[in-house]
This record gives sequence, C-alpha cells and structure tokens, in this order.
Amino acid sequence: MEYMQGTNNQTFNQEKLKLPGEVNIEILVHVIRILLKTAVVAFLYYSGARYFLPLSVYIIISEVLDQFSVYISKGKPRYQAFVKVFYVINSVAVITTVAFFANWVTDDFYLFYLIHISSAMLMYGYKIGLFSFVLSVSLYSGLLFMNNAPPAIYLRLPLLSLLFFRLFINQYRFGKTEKFLNNVLGIEKAKQDFIALASHNLRTPVSAVYGYIDLLLRGDPGPLNELQTGYIKKIKMNNQELERTTESLLQISIFEIGKGVNLFKQPSQIELVIEDTVEKFTQAAKIKGLELIFEKETGFLPLVDIDVQKITAVLSNLMDNAIKYTKKGVIVVNATKQEDFIKVSVKDTGVGIPPEDLPKIFNKFFRSGNVLVYNQTGAGLGLYLGKQIIELHGGRMSIDSIIERGTTVTFSLPVAKKEDF
Ligand code: ADP
Repeated sequence: MEYMQGTNNQTFNQEKLKLPGEVNIEILVHVIRILLKTAVVAFLYYSGARYFLPLSVYIIISEVLDQFSVYISKGKPRYQAFVKVFYVINSVAVITTVAFFANWVTDDFYLFYLIHISSAMLMYGYKIGLFSFVLSVSLYSGLLFMNNAPPAIYLRLPLLSLLFFRLFINQYRFGKTEKFLNNVLGIEKAKQDFIALASHNLRTPVSAVYGYIDLLLRGDPGPLNELQTGYIKKIKMNNQELERTTESLLQISIFEIGKGVNLFKQPSQIELVIEDTVEKFTQAAKIKGLELIFEKETGFLPLVDIDVQKITAVLSNLMDNAIKYTKKGVIVVNATKQEDFIKVSVKDTGVGIPPEDLPKIFNKFFRSGNVLVYNQTGAGLGLYLGKQIIELHGGRMSIDSIIERGTTVTFSLPVAKKEDF
C-alpha cells in the first residue's frame, strides 16, 4: 500500500505523503545540482585548471549516469537501494577527482561540496545521508593526509560536520513523523477500503434473501402456518435493518474514499417529499400506537434545490428513529421558511438523549446508551450521514433533546435561487 512507505524506503519516484503547500523539492534539488556542476566547470575554466577538458567531460558523463540510473530504477524498488549507493559514490567520486587533479583538496569549496552532497542525500533517508557523510569525510581526511595539509585545515571538518548533523537530526525526526503519519493514513485507508468492500459484498446476499422471503410469503413452495409466517416477517424486518446498515456503510465509504458524492439536484417542493415519507412510515407508527403528523402550513413554501432521493433518505432515518425511540405519544414533522432557508423538524415524545451524549450524537458509529431502553438495533450511522448530506446541500442539522421528554432533530435547506432553475 503506497501510504505505508516510510522515509527510509523512500524511492526516487515513489508517491509520498504530500504536505499542504509543499513544492516539488526533487525538481529544486536537481536544479541546484546542475547549477553547482556548471559552477564547477566554470570555476575550472576561469582558474585555468590543468585537465580542464577531461574533467569537464567526466562531470557531464557522471551527471548523465546519475540521471540514467534514476531513470532505469523507476518503478523497480529492488534496484533503488543500489541506485542510491551508486548516486552517492558517483557524486563524491566526481568532485574528489576534480579536487585531486585541479589541486582543490585543501580548498574550502571541496569540503563544502562534499557536505552539500551528504545533506542533499538526506532527502532519500538518513541512512543514505550518513553513508554519504562517512564516505566524504574519510576521503577528505585521507586526501588532506596525503597532501600533508597543515593541521588548521582539519578544523574545518568538525565545524561543517556540526551543520550536517543538525540537518541529520531534523531529517531523522521528520522521517519518524512522516512514517507515523503514513501509517495513520494507511490504517484509515484500509478501514475505508474494508467498509467499501464489505458493504458492497453484503448488498447481493441481502437482495437474495428478500427474493426468497417473498417467495415463502406468497406461498409458492406451499402454504405457511401463522407461526411460520410470523417468523418469516421477523426475518424480513431484520433483513431490512441489515440493508439499511449496508447502505449507510456504502454511503460512508463513498463520502470518505473521496470519490465525491454526486447530488442529482432539482428544484423541489419539500412538502411533497415530506408527505411521501410520512406516508411510508404511517403504518410502522400505527403498529406502535403512535401518531405521525405532518403539520403542513397553508400555502406552498418556496422550492428547495435538492437531491430528492438523498433528502428522502435523511427524512426516513429521522422518522425511523423517532418511531424506534418513542413508546407513546406523537411524532410531529414541521416545515417552515426562515429567512433564506426552509427548516424541517421531526419532533417526538420518546426516550430522549442524555445531555452528555448530545455532543457526540453526529459522530460516526455513535449510539447513545438510551438504545438499550427499547432494545433497538442500529449502527449509529444515520445521523452522521444525514448531517453530511444536509451540509452538502448547504444546510445545517442540529438536535435538541430532553431525557424522558423527547427529541427534535432540525435541518435547514437553502431556498432555491433563480440560477438553480
Ligand atoms: P441508529 O439509530 O441506527 O443507532 P442514528 O445515527 O440514526 O443511528 O442515531 C444515533 C443514535 O442517536 C441512536 O443510536 C440513538 O442512541 C440516538 N437517537 C437518534 N434519534 C433519536 C431519537 N429520536 N430519540 C432518542 N435517541 C435518538
């Protein structure tokens, strides 16, 4: 999984964690490197260095080899460790050869260049940076020794090494943070993939169960007695619950995987949507001895620009909840205009929600302890999804509840503008 890669496994072309506003550092590094190499060639030329031509050709060949090695290792993680080592050796070798033949061994520029290579290599992980540093320092000290350099020159080494180690520590820390973040993102993505896959694979058997239930209820395989019919109806009810949960999980995965939710909006009369949904739940409310009323205003409300199917799903969940969590009394649905919004509320006289649970009520998978009161099944996804859908429409959703007195869930939808038609 691409998110699982840590800094130390960072490859030359691998997709990595992108921070907001991050520029493409790799391109910047390439530009700096080419500029530095051009500067070396220019410096060789103007200082009238011996072997100017062969050294310049070597610099160009080494650059071509670097680019070529990166190119052939693309998409081949097996080669990338070798390529990184080659990259270091090639870079250190070219500047050391130049320093040796152009008599720059004791020059500040040579040591600066070596430290620059090691610091730049930190980008590919702190281990490769450290390898580059050890190689550079060993070569530098060896050449100083061979050239009988005065002891004062050796002092530059610890000073510039301090700079390298400062960068090394930063890279080490950043690497750990990046690895941690990549793991968190990886877990989150795995979770979303799992939800998507699980819910998708659940849909088919759920539909098949419906088919067989209907066959049995129609009496196709033979007549059922009353007890058997009762059991089959219970199976059907539970299957409906399973279907709802599966649908909610699928919706959530669509929201979170970032594929985007397509809203098929059209200017609609919200009262009609409410009436249809109320009609769908009237029977269920009646069975529990509850009254379900739509308090319709006289006259028509302004149109709202909505995805009717999705808003119906939100309303259905609110009515379903109101019926599930109410033992006796009445459920009232209301729709009014308030400024540029239509406010819809579903009010019940049910069990209510404890005040400490209210701030968490729109969280994914959250179910209040009150569900135990009526022993209701559910997944704690309906309100979470409902809020997302309403917000996608540019509205808000809120909840008020008093324990043992009842709950009111309200959502708003913006009134359709001229350009929505
Ligand atoms: P579900 O009902 O499937 O558990 P929801 O997201 O629709 O999931 O609701 C989350 C929780 O909020 C419920 O488990 C329940 O504890 C509480 N709740 C929602 N609506 C009501 C209501 N009308 N009355 C009391 N509690 C409610």
